[in-house]
Amino acid sequence: MSKTIDVFMFIDALGWEILQRHSFLEQELPYRYSVRMQFGYSSTAIPTILSGRPPQEHKHLSFYYYAPEKSPFKIFKYLPLKYLPSRIFDRWRVRHLLSKILARYYGFTGYFEMYSMPYNWLPFLDYIEKNDIFVPRGLAPVANLADVLQQAGVPGHISNWRLSEEENIARLGALLDEGQIRFAFLYTAALDGLLHMHVREPEIIQRKLDWYAEHIRGLMARMKQHYDQFSFTVISDHGMTPLTGTVDLKGRIDALGLRYGVDYVAVYDATMARFWFLRPEGRERIFPLLEEVPGGRILSAAEKKHYGIDFADHMYGEEILLLPPGVQIAPSNMGLKALPGMHGFAPEDRDSYAACLSTAEPEIPPQWVGDYFRLMTERIDRVRSSREAKVSTEINKQR
Ligand SMILES: [Zn+2]
Repeated sequence: MSKTIDVFMFIDALGWEILQRHSFLEQELPYRYSVRMQFGYSSTAIPTILSGRPPQEHKHLSFYYYAPEKSPFKIFKYLPLKYLPSRIFDRWRVRHLLSKILARYYGFTGYFEMYSMPYNWLPFLDYIEKNDIFVPRGLAPVANLADVLQQAGVPGHISNWRLSEEENIARLGALLDEGQIRFAFLYTAALDGLLHMHVREPEIIQRKLDWYAEHIRGLMARMKQHYDQFSFTVISDHGMTPLTGTVDLKGRIDALGLRYGVDYVAVYDATMARFWFLRPEGRERIFPLLEEVPGGRILSAAEKKHYGIDFADHMYGEEILLLPPGVQIAPSNMGLKALPGMHGFAPEDRDSYAACLSTAEPEIPPQWVGDYFRLMTERIDRVRSSREAKVSTEINKQR
């Protein structure tokens, strides 16, 4: 019986359009597909990839949502926030450090960041990624990749997202040399940050792609050495859309003079704004303003259904305004300034498309990022059944 290994390497933000303009492992990974992203950004794309389910089922869309009763941030109501000097407490480093302290205090094991969320808004909000979504039961009650691996009893490896990509590549390399694992999910995320800053600088992007290519060739050589057969598949979650303009939507809403937490609650992601209306005046005054945003789209019920974000309880907003491709909300709750590149625009826009590149031709090519889960579980199942067959032949031999 031949020993096989299947490696799926996640490269955050390796969009289909980026690949059309650069060279990247055309010989080694000849089966190449453009893949529709999940509406939203990485906070929803990764749970979708790890479960094969849409957001309305795994419940992860954006990070923050309106939930005053269960908000873990009620403590912020009692802090003398207005006396804290904002020039210190709004610095990114300070917020990042505070996020770490809070995460430890609450026992969050997931990716937690306060970003630029105003401290006095936090008591109205809850945060979805409290748990590490990569480990068994990380998306419970929905099964994730780690659950599937565990249930199949297949020796596998899933990277630790807290480590750098160099460390994750090195760890996988060492495991390949041992030759025990039969499946791996390699997580790398530095390309995303690079593209946010340098999406219009082809030389910088090509240099990074060459770096990945070199490491992938190295991993493949080790797979060839220690296994009879292998497959290597690169998958991504979305592309990157160059900045074309900004809208100070928060400033416009603030200027209405409505009370946050009394008349309405809003969360401003970089590419979409989400609203809950607590009193009729909130809706009456905010809605017309949303309709005026040039190229903006207030999602209809049919569109929410189509994108898999049709939450019965409007968990992520009663109304969601999506900005046109390239136009960022700035300042937003994710950052004070617009970045040269951003993701999270309409999935059907060409810069939004993700990519799947493989050594092997899948029976059914992936069309949506959630389809990667099927590709991965098929591979795991194949190993499980071949191991079971091997065990039963050995039992038969012994009889
Ligand atoms: Zn990003």
